[in-house]
Amino acid sequence: MLKVDLHCHSNVSDGVLAPAAVAQTARTAGVDVWALTDHDEVDGVAEARAAAQALGMQFVSGVEISITWAKETVHIVGLQIDETHAGLCAGLAATRAGRDNRGRQIAAELAKVGIAGAYEGALKFVGNPDLMSRTHFARYLVEQGVCASIPDVFKKYLSEGKPGYVPHRWATLEDAVGWIRAAGGIAVIAHPGRYKFNDMAQGVLFDEFKQLGGTAIEVVTGSHTPDQYPEYAELARRYGFLASRGTDFHAPGEARVDFALLPPLPSGVTPVWHDWF
Ligand code: AMP
Ligand code: MN
Ligand code: MN
Ligand code: MN
Repeated sequence: MLKVDLHCHSNVSDGVLAPAAVAQTARTAGVDVWALTDHDEVDGVAEARAAAQALGMQFVSGVEISITWAKETVHIVGLQIDETHAGLCAGLAATRAGRDNRGRQIAAELAKVGIAGAYEGALKFVGNPDLMSRTHFARYLVEQGVCASIPDVFKKYLSEGKPGYVPHRWATLEDAVGWIRAAGGIAVIAHPGRYKFNDMAQGVLFDEFKQLGGTAIEVVTGSHTPDQYPEYAELARRYGFLASRGTDFHAPGEARVDFALLPPLPSGVTPVWHDWF
């Protein structure tokens, strides 16, 4: 059976490894079909493609776009995109704009609770100055011993209602799906089980996404708990979505589920890659 991983991050967004090193990590874990899906950025795709091909993997160009829907942040993965498409690139550039300013605001909020120098501290972990992420702040706070782990930082400081949280308005669902489709790609709702929507709101999201031309949802992802795999497989069937699978890898040793141990898609769903090869 093909081993497919369609969700990974490099240091072009909030991962720690260069794109070629992520490719190597995936290959070592036995991956045959692999996508790099950095947040709001396609700068790593060319390096990732070259490395993947040299390692004998089928490469899928990807991106993970941050959107705001019903006042919540949602992530839309684009797969099989033309990463040079002007409209997509302009949309991603607009989405990235404002991240640096948000970073300065996060640092100002953290300073109010006694954590000084967080902007400069987070910047040490940033691989792409255009892409400062909350994850970089989390790495800094762990380094400083403020928290024991990255999830711990999110729980105590970087989530809504916590002292370092700064609300941000991202792209719209319509824009993100539109950019992906204009670039010839397939739109996928990333880790749908991670959002705080009730069943009704989630249903509205799925319906709107479908109407806009969205095709798939992630079912098996490192960002789901194992009990969510069958739950989202059933929802994919019910809504007529294809199913995607990806680790959401960011760094060695940081994952909720080890790279090599993520299970395959449950039976009864159609994989998003069913007609790619
Ligand atoms: P940003 O796009 O800057 O708001 O950062 C979002 C990123 O933070 C996500 O892509 C995850 O990598 C990370 N993240 C969000 N929530 C958590 C969490 N609870 N635990 C660990 N990482 C998280
Ligand atoms: Mn991330
Ligand atoms: Mn995500
Ligand atoms: Mn991700």
